[in-house]
Amino acid sequence: MMRMTVLASGSKGNSTVISSARTRILVDAGLSCRELLKRMALAGEDASTLNAILITHEHIDHVSGLSVLARKLKIPVFFTEPTHQAWVRMLTPRTTMTYSRWLEHIQREKEERACATAEKEAGAYNPSTEAASIAHISAEAEALDSTLNRTRRIYAGADPDVREVAAAPAKKAGPAELPAVEYFRAGSDFSIGDIDISSFTIPHDAADPCGFVFESEGIRMALATDLGYVPPNVKAALRRIDVLLLESNHDLEMLKVGPYPWSVKQRVMGRNGHLSNSVTCDFLENDMDSGVQTLILGHLSEHNNHPEIVRMGAEQSLLKRGLAPRLVVAGQKTNTEVFAY
Ligand SMILES: [Zn+2]
Ligand SMILES: [Zn+2]
Repeated sequence: MMRMTVLASGSKGNSTVISSARTRILVDAGLSCRELLKRMALAGEDASTLNAILITHEHIDHVSGLSVLARKLKIPVFFTEPTHQAWVRMLTPRTTMTYSRWLEHIQREKEERACATAEKEAGAYNPSTEAASIAHISAEAEALDSTLNRTRRIYAGADPDVREVAAAPAKKAGPAELPAVEYFRAGSDFSIGDIDISSFTIPHDAADPCGFVFESEGIRMALATDLGYVPPNVKAALRRIDVLLLESNHDLEMLKVGPYPWSVKQRVMGRNGHLSNSVTCDFLENDMDSGVQTLILGHLSEHNNHPEIVRMGAEQSLLKRGLAPRLVVAGQKTNTEVFAY
């Protein structure tokens, strides 16, 4: 037997529990730790028995509660390596400046410090303090020069102008510290407990985003959200599925007239953005596995979609196909019921 419960789905937070008889996995942790624990309890899923957290990609609506929850439950987190690195970078405070600005900054610092020292010494002039002052200034200048040269060496051979400079080295447990990290490759198959997992690459503007098919005792459940379109590898991955959580992000007309700036609209509509209702309906009409027993549509945009529009469109598409799976529209504010097969 397998179970899927969507704890939250939408632009403001995503998380789903997948369980077999012996294994329990949380896919994404895009709500606060407290809210995730609350919703698991409401769904009758015991958080203390979670075996692992699996991350689709590093966007904040999928990871906002991750480190706190993983540390609290002391369980491993499965990522692809690029996703883990992107997540760590996201949590590491950094300042960005161009190489030439950095050189200016160092040069200015050097002059200011030399001036300050000279001014301090100037008050009590005698030949011996002048010599001491010059020695002091040149020692400071040398120290700055060696920093400058070391940085020049670091930058040597690197072509882009913009570099990220760590604001402070992490000394103690940082926000990206996790009890254990396990890597899988996007597109590979692996197992957690008695759940077999097939990962597949999805087209989305993140480091290495993935969707998943989970299988145990012949039951297959899949999760595919955050994708700009449905490429052949995703269609191939979503065969022989019993429960499918699929994105239906926005209504194109609502998005066009909606409140987002044009650049964001282009991002959402782009090939690495999110599935529109019409593209999702097209998938239901032409490609969805006819054996799907429960279809959950999710990751709805808060501003550019409405659950009833999603439901009506999907019903029409399924009717054209002559299919009648159980249809659920997952939301942001409450968890779904438990879908068990
Ligand atoms: Zn995303
Ligand atoms: Zn998302």
